[in-house]
Amino acid sequence: MAPFDDAADLPETTLDPDDWASFRAEAHRMLDVMVDHLASLRERPVWRPMPGEVRRAFDAPAPSSPEPLEAIDGSFERLVLPYAAGNAHPRFLGWVHGGGTAVGMLAEMMAGGLNANLGGRDHAPVLVERQVIRWVRDLFDFPAGATGLFVTGSSMANFMAVIVAKTARLGRQTRERGLQGEKLVAYASTKAHSCVTRAMELSGLGSAALRLVPVGPDHRMRLEALGDMVREDRARGFLPFLVVGSAGTVDAGAIDDLAGLAGVASREGLWFHIDGAFGSLARLSPRLAPLLAGIERADSIALDFHKWLQAPYDAGFLLVRDGDAHAGAFATGASYLARSERGLSAGAPWFTDFGPDLSRGFRALKVWMTIKAFGTRRLGEVIDRTCRLAARLADRVEREPALELLAPVALNVVCFRYRHGDADRVNEQIVLELQEGGLAVPSTTRIDGALAIRVAIVNHRCRAADLDLLVDAILDAGARAR
Ligand SMILES: *Cc1c(COP(=O)(O)O)cnc(C)c1O
Repeated sequence: MAPFDDAADLPETTLDPDDWASFRAEAHRMLDVMVDHLASLRERPVWRPMPGEVRRAFDAPAPSSPEPLEAIDGSFERLVLPYAAGNAHPRFLGWVHGGGTAVGMLAEMMAGGLNANLGGRDHAPVLVERQVIRWVRDLFDFPAGATGLFVTGSSMANFMAVIVAKTARLGRQTRERGLQGEKLVAYASTKAHSCVTRAMELSGLGSAALRLVPVGPDHRMRLEALGDMVREDRARGFLPFLVVGSAGTVDAGAIDDLAGLAGVASREGLWFHIDGAFGSLARLSPRLAPLLAGIERADSIALDFHKWLQAPYDAGFLLVRDGDAHAGAFATGASYLARSERGLSAGAPWFTDFGPDLSRGFRALKVWMTIKAFGTRRLGEVIDRTCRLAARLADRVEREPALELLAPVALNVVCFRYRHGDADRVNEQIVLELQEGGLAVPSTTRIDGALAIRVAIVNHRCRAADLDLLVDAILDAGARAR
């Protein structure tokens, strides 16, 4: 290789703007586009199908030369912005999606500008995440030794909880040795989210090692059945190690008897994990918090700030009571990650000690800013309001002779259907029509085999009038289907 002699010969490779003033002007314009977007959500369809030319635009290969920012923004406004899923819209009622906020959007910009790596080291972004962890710890009355961290979502948090519980049961040496024929088994209700099954697959324990415990008519796990299954497994030589309670099932928002589960778990020596993806944050509402009694006794809780807390995607979280057990599952001692007492390598333990990721983005900032901007009381009121809206919708459904409620409404999820001789087909049709017409986006699920229109009210922008519009449209579409 030629000796390095003249730095002046090097090409200019920085990616900063050539002209900061024109970048600033374009950046302000882009911010205006997004503020206008959020301020006028109601005026647009919730969702619209993408035309072929839009889909085809994404087939173009990577450009080898630069495009002006203005043109890129033009593509975004033409091809992306109008064709998003629509979960920011007040009548997006499908699955369990958060609506996001204007403040959350700004936080994403700040985090992007800072480009912080939260794997570890000693810098203020780490303190922001630690502060949010303490807020979460306090919310659930967890002890000072509890640890937590931001992850992508509850799928990841539930998976990590399985790993922590498994490592706590078998001892840290299992990380080296792997399974030595121990027949570990875990328990969750038949209404548990599918990601719990997947967590068992990913952990290597296998989904067959997840026992699905039957639920009662209230969609809550039957505790006597759990106790029977644990005893039976033990008698057959299995090693029960974990029970996963649901705080807000995805179907109907049901909350398991968490205090009862805590009792069974402590009696049987099981790790008590709670999938509280959205429901756990009902703890922010004084009216709803009692429904979650017992959550403070969990060994770990998975939750999502991107659902009921309205933080932008993604912002999942895992909270673990026993910080040593948490670190025991993930911490390593690589020399290039050596910690020091001073300098930028201080600040141990690092977040990489508590999860599989080393490089981690600054998810904490959008939650920190959301909580500061609105305060926990107002955020709790938003959660409470969505549940009141759900109760009001359920009430209307029960008063409409053409409609029938298919599951009890525990929180913010209402499952119902249009009565019809061919109900599954007709209700599926109604939901597709609503989605494609852009008026509202409910989703579907199956309740005891029957296809249900499922309305999950998560979005803080949803109003009673939006739900009236929805029901009117369902009655209309149902009548036409006859
Ligand atoms: C959304 C949800 C999950 C999955 O969480 P992600 O953030 O989508 O990974 C798990 N359990 C329940 C009950 C949920 O609502």
